[in-house]
Amino acid sequence: MDVLERAVSGERLSEADLLALYDLPLPEVAAAAHAVRLQKTDPRVVTYLIDRNINYTNVCTVACGFCAFYRTKRQKDAYTLSFEEIGRKVEELMAVGGRRILMQGGVNPDLPLDWYLELLRYLKAHYPEVRVDAFSPEEILGLERLTGLKAEAILEKMKEAGLDGLPGAGAEILVDEVRLKAAPARIRSADWVRIMDAAQALGLYTLASMVIGFGEGPKERVAHLLRIREQQDRALSVHKNGFSGFALWTLQVENTRLKGKAPGATAHEYLRQLSVARLALDNLPNHQASWPTMGFKVAQAALYYGANDFGSTMLEENVVSAAAGHGRTHATVRQIVRHIVDAGFTPAERDPLYRILRYPDVEAILSEKEPLELPLA
Ligand code: SF4
Repeated sequence: MDVLERAVSGERLSEADLLALYDLPLPEVAAAAHAVRLQKTDPRVVTYLIDRNINYTNVCTVACGFCAFYRTKRQKDAYTLSFEEIGRKVEELMAVGGRRILMQGGVNPDLPLDWYLELLRYLKAHYPEVRVDAFSPEEILGLERLTGLKAEAILEKMKEAGLDGLPGAGAEILVDEVRLKAAPARIRSADWVRIMDAAQALGLYTLASMVIGFGEGPKERVAHLLRIREQQDRALSVHKNGFSGFALWTLQVENTRLKGKAPGATAHEYLRQLSVARLALDNLPNHQASWPTMGFKVAQAALYYGANDFGSTMLEENVVSAAAGHGRTHATVRQIVRHIVDAGFTPAERDPLYRILRYPDVEAILSEKEPLELPLA
């Protein structure tokens, strides 16, 4: 059997097998990835999540070369939101039926651990029905340095205060030579995996992610996927709590110091990588398409390259959009539903753990009057 037949039959692919996928015709790799997706998740359904992003502070000392979002604390537009301002954003989400916030910021040394714990308690006291998936391994590492505590202790306190999960940001490519060239102070691969492992041990939600376009080649991309697969094996067997899903997107460099220096990735590369990820990550059934970086149309095509999920509404996504320069900071439910239906699937609203919450009334949603595409700046 050739490598694609072996993948579709359920065999785990080796590093050499995965590298070979970059030399095969894309439609063949895509067909195998789609066949595996149809086996692993409900073949009729494409899921999506109603949520919002809240970026509680843009002050950050890590200064990644690919980030257009962060500010030093002396810059005029540096900010840290008050608990009340964050609360108002949660209320906006609840008004459109969402019950999950994804809250991330920079590594701001002026915010002590107690600030985070008080914020989590405030949110749980005022909005008990809203899930709080917040912070990233980079922010937890910043708190380790600030407090001298280990991630396990920090996350335990955060969980007690109301944290539901640690989203997957900051993985990029888990090969230090690649990540440190773009961001010398960035969290090292081993620390990213260590902190995710600590979160998984505590039963918190986690997501695996990947960003391509730094100039890395197939070898580094495969190394990243194998690192995620290995951690997922460990998390599932030891903690009985692995990554809920996998999200891949492309590097955005507009307004960043990497503009003109990093090659980024084309739609073709993105779609191939999505298919390779589906075939590599045999222990991770849910793969997201990325409308924020690829636009709705490529995201729609991604549903035939291994993705089974259209991502989330992301009301007020500020970080990727700042570096993309397209001004697309959210999607509406109508836009998501329309693209899923048009691609030939049944839309289903899910929670962050990919449990289906409801099947929306497609006819009613599609009859709403709002633009299908958000304007591009
Ligand atoms: S990507 Fe995150 S850690 Fe890096 S500079 Fe931006 S806010 Fe800071």
